[in-house]
Amino acid sequence: MADKKGTKIIITKRGMNGKGGSKRGAPNESFVRQAMLALVIFIILTSVYSALSENKNKAPQLSLSELSQNVSAGLVTSISVKGEDLLIKYKDGTEKVSKKEEGTALTTSFANYQVSKEALNGVAVSIDNDRGLGFWVLSLAPIILPILFVVFFLWFISRQVKGAGMQAFTFGQSKARMIHPDDKVSRITFKDVAGAKEAKEELSEIVDFLKNPKKFLDIGARIPKGILLMGAPGTGKTLLARAVAGEAGVAFFSISGSEFVEMFVGVGASRVRDLFDMAKKSAPAIIFVDEIDAVGRVRGGGMGGGNDEREQTLNQILVEMDGFEPNEKVIVMAATNRPDVLDPALLRPGRFDRRVTLDLPDRADREEILKIHSRTKPFAEDVVLALIAERTPGFSGADLYSLMNEAAILAARENRTQVAQYDLIRSIEKVMLGPERRSHILSKKEKELTAYHEAGHALIASVLPYADPVHKISIISRGRAAGYVLKLPLEDRKLQSKKEFLDDITVALGGYVVEKSLYGDVTTGPSNDLQVASALARDMVTKYGMSEKLGPITFENQPGRPMFGQNFEHHEYSEEVGAKIDAEVNKIIDDSLKRAQKVINDYRETLNDIATRLIEVETIEQKEFEEILIRNKIKPKRKLDLEHQK
Ligand code: ADP
Ligand code: ZN
Ligand code: MG
Repeated sequence: MADKKGTKIIITKRGMNGKGGSKRGAPNESFVRQAMLALVIFIILTSVYSALSENKNKAPQLSLSELSQNVSAGLVTSISVKGEDLLIKYKDGTEKVSKKEEGTALTTSFANYQVSKEALNGVAVSIDNDRGLGFWVLSLAPIILPILFVVFFLWFISRQVKGAGMQAFTFGQSKARMIHPDDKVSRITFKDVAGAKEAKEELSEIVDFLKNPKKFLDIGARIPKGILLMGAPGTGKTLLARAVAGEAGVAFFSISGSEFVEMFVGVGASRVRDLFDMAKKSAPAIIFVDEIDAVGRVRGGGMGGGNDEREQTLNQILVEMDGFEPNEKVIVMAATNRPDVLDPALLRPGRFDRRVTLDLPDRADREEILKIHSRTKPFAEDVVLALIAERTPGFSGADLYSLMNEAAILAARENRTQVAQYDLIRSIEKVMLGPERRSHILSKKEKELTAYHEAGHALIASVLPYADPVHKISIISRGRAAGYVLKLPLEDRKLQSKKEFLDDITVALGGYVVEKSLYGDVTTGPSNDLQVASALARDMVTKYGMSEKLGPITFENQPGRPMFGQNFEHHEYSEEVGAKIDAEVNKIIDDSLKRAQKVINDYRETLNDIATRLIEVETIEQKEFEEILIRNKIKPKRKLDLEHQK
């Protein structure tokens, strides 16, 4: 059961645990390709080198004594000396090479070989000291080539390491992503954010300042340095932060809290510094720290190491914010869905003292959001977005976005070019519960039991006055649920009364009561139902002060003051009170079980009717369900203005 406020889904789990997909690292193709390239380059270089050095050995090589004999015999016309190498030209036009003795003049060598002066005079000896480029290349290559190769290799490795995300060579550099003000493609403005009226109003002041800071500075106004966006996941915090930058036309630097945390020791703080430096250079700018709770949790509560890094990072953020000059024109925005765990130091004046809350969208806002995300999608004529908005209480903006997407995928899979209303309706359930699993076959007995179980929930929800009406019952397994009853409240509600709580608990226990009274046995099916019921009952007693015995006192864990570590339960009450709480919770569950049992007994025929039909068709929609109720003389709770439903 998703923790969506206002949406009640009762899910029967029958030990169908989803398999966690194992991700196997694919061989890194680009690495292989680049390694091959390096090898090819190396081979080419070596062969060029050896070709060059072979070049000089083409001509036949003479020994010095042979040369002396040839000179004495008068066959040689000229000898040119190049370093140690000798190039000999003969009268018949042939050329030969030889080497002179190192450190000895050629004439001395000839004298040693008894070459006569006369014979030598007939030979033109030239000394060529110009050691050409080829000579240098050839003599330096053995030294330079390996160095080049090593350098190339290091560069190549560093690229690989970066590619692997380790960034070992770019240590403190900020990993922030920047959206340039001139970047028209990724630019988002308030127009792209539906609903969230109050939040937009709050933030338009910031936009104003970033656009025209002088106006504010001249009059001596202090502009907030930090703005904290708070709200459930998917309510558009990230989106809105980007929209502020887009509206104001300033640079937007974003980094997520978890990115700070994942890094090496000591680097988190330096990344913060880099980030702020970068932003100041391109001021006016917005720095956005997404999911700041990852770094900004209450300090000093951690056990063991590990947290030091986070603390340093957090301290650095605070230091940077304190160091802002009033005319700096850099504004820090942060987002979190856990404002309760944030370090109070972050919330002090001069830091994130502006707080903007984003709520789950109400019905009108949901319609707006759906409209925004349907801009690019061709719709069939039967689409009524208002109806979809009505059926999706508790959906966040992100849920609505994926609903639209799912619908388009469904249409495309069935080779249609337009998205139909039916696609949208099917997608609601898909987003809520995960995809249908028609392939999961229940045995005949399992199917019957599941049908009665779900019928139990649905019946009780229809009989009790404060429970939400049933929209759909199904015994087609979906996600991890074997069957489910979809109940939607008549309207979005922010407050829940005690009577509603009690009815909800009774409905949740309905499946269990049916299994127990009809089959005399209980399966693992209702385990999730029981969890839901117990959690609701406990909340009533400890959070909302709805217990008669204990009175209107809350016994919630105090957030922000952990004893050891963040996750330890820390109760502020004595064992005696604890026992009283347990007794009250038990009493609520007991009473609810009795109420559920009574409904099942009183409406046994109706239960049979619902379950029988469910076994037949597996899914009952609201309309048919209401017909069954009417046949059994139960008045359906139908919202009057739901009539545009076809
Ligand atoms: P959060 O940061 O609060 O978890 P996001 O800003 O990442 O949520 O929202 C996720 C997506 O949901 C957005 O990219 C957008 O497509 C959609 N969305 C959320 N709220 C709205 C809204 N008010 N208007 C339009 N789209 C929205
Ligand atoms: Zn159930
Ligand atoms: Mg976000």
